[in-house]
Amino acid sequence: MLLVFARRLVHAFVALLLTASLAPAPLAAQTPASDDPLSVVASFSILGDLARQVGGDAVHVSTLVGPGVDAHTYDPAPADLVALSEADIVFEIGLGFEPWLDNFYASAQPPGERVVVSEGITPREGGEHDDQEGEAPHEDGEAHTDDVHANDDEASTEGEEGETHADDADREHGAYDPHVWHDVANAIVMTENIRDALAAADPADAALYEANAAAFIAELEALDAEIRAQIETLPEERRRLVTSHDTFGYFADAYGFEVVGTALGSLSTEAADPSAQEIVRLVAEIEAAGVPAVFAENVANPDLMAAIAAEAGVALAPPLYTDALGPEGSPGESYVGMMRANVKAIVDALGG
Ligand SMILES: [Zn+2]
Repeated sequence: MLLVFARRLVHAFVALLLTASLAPAPLAAQTPASDDPLSVVASFSILGDLARQVGGDAVHVSTLVGPGVDAHTYDPAPADLVALSEADIVFEIGLGFEPWLDNFYASAQPPGERVVVSEGITPREGGEHDDQEGEAPHEDGEAHTDDVHANDDEASTEGEEGETHADDADREHGAYDPHVWHDVANAIVMTENIRDALAAADPADAALYEANAAAFIAELEALDAEIRAQIETLPEERRRLVTSHDTFGYFADAYGFEVVGTALGSLSTEAADPSAQEIVRLVAEIEAAGVPAVFAENVANPDLMAAIAAEAGVALAPPLYTDALGPEGSPGESYVGMMRANVKAIVDALGG
C-alpha cells in the first residue's frame, strides 16, 4: 500500500519535472550556475560524507540511508523517492549493495544520472574467503579475473558475449563484495569518481571540485599511512578479525588481516541468524585462532556477537563502524573518523 502510494508520488513528480522542462520560458537548468547548488543524492552515509567533501558549497547532498542504519536491508521512505526524483546525480556503491535502488529505477525513470562510485576498483569475489588471494591485488586482477576487466569496456573485445553479460549481472547481484570503502585506497578512487561526475554535471564549478578532491585525497593518503603505522604495532599473528557479517574483506586484504569468521557467514546482513551448529563451528574457529576479542558492528544488534563472545570465552570489543557512519558528534561521524576509530578499537582489542 505504502509502496503504491510512493510510486504514484514519484510518477507525479517525474511528470511535473518533465512538464517544467518542456515549458517555454525558464528552461530547467542543465548546467546550474555556481549559486545554484547541484542536487546530489548519496545512497548511504559514508558516500554522503565523501560527496560533501568534494562538492562543498556547490552541491546539496541528501543521504538516503543515515548513520547507524543498515543499507543492505533498507526500505526507502516516500521522501527518499522524492529526493531521488529531484536529483541531478545519484551516487551509489553498486556491486549489489543497494538492491532497493535498482527496484526504484525499475519502477520509475527519474532524470538524474546514476554514478557507481566503485567503478575502477577491482572487486573482491564473494563467497568463501581465500587467504592466498589479496596479497597482490594487481597481479590478482590480471591473473584470473579478466571477467572483472570486461566490466570496464561495455563492448567485450575478445571474450564471449554471453560471459560479459553474466558478469555484468553478477556485478549487480552480489557475486562481488561491495564493502570497498574499508580500504582507504578505494576511498580515493571513489573520491575521484565523485569529482569527475560533479565536474561533468557542473563544469562551472569544476575547479572547486578539483581542489576539494585534491585536498581530501591528501587527507586520505595521510590516513592510510596512519592506519598502517597503527597496525604495525600489532603483532602479525594477532591481526585476526571475527565480526558480525562479512564486511572487512577489503580491509583485511589492504592491511594484512585475516577474517577468521563471521557470525552471519555472509556478505549481506540479510542472512538469517546462524544455527546452533554454525555457532559451535565459529566458536571452535575463534578458539583455534586464539583471538582475544570479537567485534560487534554499528549496523547490527550486538546480542548475537555478545552470545558468541560469551560462548568462546573472549571479550566483546566495542562495535566497529562497518556499513554506516556513526551519529553526529561520535568519533565515527565522518569517513576519516570512522576509519581511525575502527583501527584504534581493533588494535586496542587485539593487542592485549
Ligand atoms: Zn555489509
